[in-house]
Amino acid sequence: VTEALESNCDVLIIGAGPAGMMMAAWMARMGINARIVDKRSTKIYAGQADGLQLRSLEIFDSFGFADRAWKEANHMIEMCMWNPGEDGVLRRSDRVPDVPAGLSRFTQIVLHQGRIERFFLDHIKKHSKDRLRVERAVLPESLEIDEERSDDYSADNYPIKVQLRHLTDEEAAPAQANGPTVNDGLFRSNLVDDDTDDLINKGRENKGGTETVRAKYMVGCDGAHSWTRRQLGFQLEGEPTDFIWGVLDIVPITDFPDIRNRCAVHSASSGSLMVIPREEKLVRLYIQLTEIKPDASGRADRSKITPETIIKAAQKIIAPYSLTYEYCDWFTAYQIGQRVGTNFDHKNRVFLTGDAVHTHSPKAGQGMNVSMQDSFNLGWKLGLVVKGIAQPSILKTYQSERRRIAQDLIDFDHKFSRLFSGRPAKDVMDEEGVSMEDFKQAFLNGNMFASGLSVDYGTSMLVAKPGSSADQGDGTDVSSTHHQKVVGRQELATNIKLGMRFPSYKVLNQSDARPWEFQEKLRSDGRFRIVVFAGNVVSPQQQARLKVFCQHLTSSGFLAPHIHKSVALLTCHAAKRTEVELLRDFPDVLHPFDSKMGWDYDSVFVDDVSYHEGFGDAYKNYGVDKENGCVVVTRPDQYVGHVDSLDEEGFVGVESYFRGVLVPVS
Ligand code: FAD
Repeated sequence: VTEALESNCDVLIIGAGPAGMMMAAWMARMGINARIVDKRSTKIYAGQADGLQLRSLEIFDSFGFADRAWKEANHMIEMCMWNPGEDGVLRRSDRVPDVPAGLSRFTQIVLHQGRIERFFLDHIKKHSKDRLRVERAVLPESLEIDEERSDDYSADNYPIKVQLRHLTDEEAAPAQANGPTVNDGLFRSNLVDDDTDDLINKGRENKGGTETVRAKYMVGCDGAHSWTRRQLGFQLEGEPTDFIWGVLDIVPITDFPDIRNRCAVHSASSGSLMVIPREEKLVRLYIQLTEIKPDASGRADRSKITPETIIKAAQKIIAPYSLTYEYCDWFTAYQIGQRVGTNFDHKNRVFLTGDAVHTHSPKAGQGMNVSMQDSFNLGWKLGLVVKGIAQPSILKTYQSERRRIAQDLIDFDHKFSRLFSGRPAKDVMDEEGVSMEDFKQAFLNGNMFASGLSVDYGTSMLVAKPGSSADQGDGTDVSSTHHQKVVGRQELATNIKLGMRFPSYKVLNQSDARPWEFQEKLRSDGRFRIVVFAGNVVSPQQQARLKVFCQHLTSSGFLAPHIHKSVALLTCHAAKRTEVELLRDFPDVLHPFDSKMGWDYDSVFVDDVSYHEGFGDAYKNYGVDKENGCVVVTRPDQYVGHVDSLDEEGFVGVESYFRGVLVPVS
């Protein structure tokens, strides 16, 4: 790399952890000119995050690689609670399902972060035709933003200037505390100082290469010590606590009966432990290190934390059962602290996602999931704005939608961590101890949040809920600039909630009778969807309503140019499949014709009984009337933006929604 290298890109991503990978996946899918850099010379090969929650799997499925994770991972089905009985001896007090039944077609699974990063890398390679690659051992060393031009969205404006430094692989490799035999994650732990500045200085001293990149947008996915956040002067607010936990990935040798179940173990006075059974006979143990305390600076001494000290602490907690190992795959330690960023973006030009804006303990298995979902929320918005399809003001909804989730996450983790780290109460009079009943209730209540399915975005130009966008609570104005505010008719689809992800039920393909989870048809390809619940299409009145709606779609000056390009159509009707013909009963726009590829056979579905997989009863489950149907608009991330009637009035509502979001095609 020569000194004077200069180039432009639309989106510059800093950091290739789960948040950065998700961002890059959107960029690849949407054909955006993006770059992604990471200060490390390699991806993660062991340890770190491992829990994938239900919503993350749905998202992976929308990109097309959930099956890889599903096959390789360990599936967590049961959660067991262990604590001392009246005789003071450890015993199993409860078994509960790991997640409640019926929330999603997926359950929670565990697989280490390195494999998840691999799935992303393969996906990004395929969809970018190998143009978008993680540039490793590269990190930014300066950031300038042309503040005066940050509101100027003309195509040739690149208001962000970043100097990137290229390191050698040796410079970029982290120091391992335990030598090369056992992987340790201490260098990524919050118990040690970040090495970003050292890396920059090393690179400068060695006179390595630099280059200047001008970008339209930049996304800091650079983890808890985020360099990007520091440049913007944003703070994380919150407190560390004194609880220190060790993490071991081992193949255990033990007589503990529940070693292949997820377990929360509270000992009488030696602290707590969590068991997470993993792939390939591995088990992850989260172990409270009661004997290691933070010093006056608030930090614990990293040198005291070794696999041996951690397993000793585990043995005390799990006694009278024995626990040892011959093979340790990875270990680390961290100090619990819950902190959330004050700001998630700077002038809608520089954004922060993932650990860069929220940190918390890993035990509830949330960090990687919420981090990926931050980028899942932002990526398509950036993609559509860069392409000139959506109005730049949609970018404001990133902070308004995700900051509240981060705050909820912090509150959830705060509560869960305290109940986990506390000593179990001896009896009801023991006020300092934690009631095991409270712990169980917190786990069960938190389950919906932990699944990722309770996310419910507030009113904005992208979510046509009643109420004003000022209800967001953080003062961000996320209303549409369009004069006419549109409000979705929730009563027409009572279980397809505005602001929440589109739920899934089995439907059949009209043309070939194959059953599908309907959500599978909402692919992450950067397009909105108009989901036409066509109702009873064999009734003449309903046929007429469907035709009128479709005629309006195809003749609309505003919407028609977007149809099939940035807005796809998906239909589900409620008549009997065998009484309906695709070409006869559905207007062409619902299954368009291509002169080379013929008719589209993958857009019209039916709520009917399948030959082999039962009946999804989708209309009933969605809360949609089987006679009259309705229309639902989903955003490119499967969240529900608008609901309206299948008629002329409904068309006006749908068009109005899109006028608030998309740029007119001239
Ligand atoms: P990171 O994964 O930290 O990625 C940041 C990336 O940016 C890194 O690749 C880093 O090298 C790079 N980078 C940093 N600074 C720079 C710079 N200046 N320039 C260029 N690149 C830079 N979460 C879960 O959901 N489930 C779990 O089960 C779970 N278990 C965990 C267990 C442990 C022991 C730990 C430590 C964490 C766990 N987490 C878990 C949390 C999870 O690992 C993080 O929340 C997640 O990795 C955050 O993703 P991210 O992409 O935001 O940040």
